[in-house]
Amino acid sequence: MAKHVFVTGGVVSSLGKGLTAASIGMLLKNRGLRVAMQKFDPYINVDAGTMNPFQHGEVFVTDDGAETDLDLGHYERFTGETTTRASNVTQGSIYLRVIEKERRGDYLGETVQIVPHITDEIKRTMRALAKPGIDVVISEIGGTVGDIEGLPFLEAIRQFTLEVGRANVITIHLTLLPHLKATDEVKTKPTQHSVGKLREIGLQPDVIICRTEKSVSDEVRRKIALFCSVEVPSVLEEKDVDFSIYEVPAVLHRQGLDDIIVNRLNLDAEDADLSRWKDMLDVIRRPKHSVDVALVGKYTDLADSYKSIFEALTHGGIANHTRVRVRQVSAEQIYDEGPEGLLAGFSGVIVPGGFGERGIEGIIRAIGHVRTERIPYFGICLGMQCACIEFARNVIEKEDAHSTEIKPDTPHPVICLLSEQMSVTKKGGSMRLGAYPCRIAKGTKAREAYGQPEVFERHRHRFEFNPAYRMDFEEGGMTLSGVSPDGTLVEMIELGDHPWFLGTQFHPEFRSRPDKAHPLFASFVKATLEYAEGRQQGALAAQKR
Ligand code: GLN
Repeated sequence: MAKHVFVTGGVVSSLGKGLTAASIGMLLKNRGLRVAMQKFDPYINVDAGTMNPFQHGEVFVTDDGAETDLDLGHYERFTGETTTRASNVTQGSIYLRVIEKERRGDYLGETVQIVPHITDEIKRTMRALAKPGIDVVISEIGGTVGDIEGLPFLEAIRQFTLEVGRANVITIHLTLLPHLKATDEVKTKPTQHSVGKLREIGLQPDVIICRTEKSVSDEVRRKIALFCSVEVPSVLEEKDVDFSIYEVPAVLHRQGLDDIIVNRLNLDAEDADLSRWKDMLDVIRRPKHSVDVALVGKYTDLADSYKSIFEALTHGGIANHTRVRVRQVSAEQIYDEGPEGLLAGFSGVIVPGGFGERGIEGIIRAIGHVRTERIPYFGICLGMQCACIEFARNVIEKEDAHSTEIKPDTPHPVICLLSEQMSVTKKGGSMRLGAYPCRIAKGTKAREAYGQPEVFERHRHRFEFNPAYRMDFEEGGMTLSGVSPDGTLVEMIELGDHPWFLGTQFHPEFRSRPDKAHPLFASFVKATLEYAEGRQQGALAAQKR
């Protein structure tokens, strides 16, 4: 029977519960246990697909096509396991299921209530991941203890613990210890209150992890232990990390967190071996090289909107012993001021996915610049579509070429809806979502990077390359390096006579891992390094002359 780890949070949101849960997953997997991870989101949206990335960060996509919370990205990157639709459960989806049952008459005239009907449905999803072969299910509860919205989930944990037995459940509570500058003190009161709140609901945490800027003294630890009724060694600190989020598992391991969990749940586990992970941390801490990459998109001030891309670039950097410094450059500013100045000094440009008209013409200008200046370019989803539009307009002379997403009456719809998607118009239901196969042509940069003829990659888009223009593009010098197995959908494009110019209709960033960089990101970073080196040599030669 699987054991359960619940991770809750208190005091404030954005404490990094996702990273902590992911780190726990990584540590337990490292100890030879089979782990499944799950995030409960207390909001009423049925999934994250319709949520604004400004408010909520990127929408992460699973192999099976669910649009989910970005914490699932951390789970996958830290544990190396792939998540599924069942790994992200929103309160909205729970209510939807209960209401559908009620409409069908499944409750036989009962009064349908939060307790027991909603909590029963939550418990069902808690059990759903505990499949045969899984040793530990880690469930993270989104939000903060004390939120009205989160109550049904906490109540469900209470009931669940009674049903499966206390010995099979461990509850870990993440809190914030604020530091008061004036008195140079770390304050425990908010933590006491937050644990008090949990105990009111009937939950006693077994472990308290304190997020803090300053180290926690033994005295503070003892105080927290006493007031929150946990053992002193079970009060851990998670200080702000210096250089990388991938330090977190090592920080928690040093304080014995995996031992606490393994012992508490009586798990038959191997010893931890973090040597490979630590080697990777060494590369992140002391890379041999560094490069600057510009990310040109609609959003410029919210790195969370492009979380997985930032991470995948870091991973591509690790594979090349390189620190990749990414700066977000506004597409709209590029449109107004031109690309030359704004993109000067970068050794590569990446254009991420996106929706809608904003910034598109700026992106197209940026792509024209990197194409003619031979600067490495990586276009993802919208980034590939815009590369096709730029190529159509400026190389094969199809003036006014566009995507029908932006200009439905364009004379040259090089990106358009294909008939399969045309029939579906309901919001949230009209996209090509999840993993699809892609065949890669021989002799291309894509094939060289992947080293295999077929791959599966995750999609999230409505529009596609218009097959009517295939010949024009190929004759103009663009290689359609990846296509669907039946040959109808263009999945990857590249330019043969450019150092590195590649676009993917899918989102490779979702499958990248710190210890196993996605091949395209590793290859792109390598190209940016070569570009930086070439530029340096060019500058030296110019000096000599
Ligand atoms: N808006 C484009 C489409 O729907 C691209 C989507 C994306 O970049 N994820 O096809």
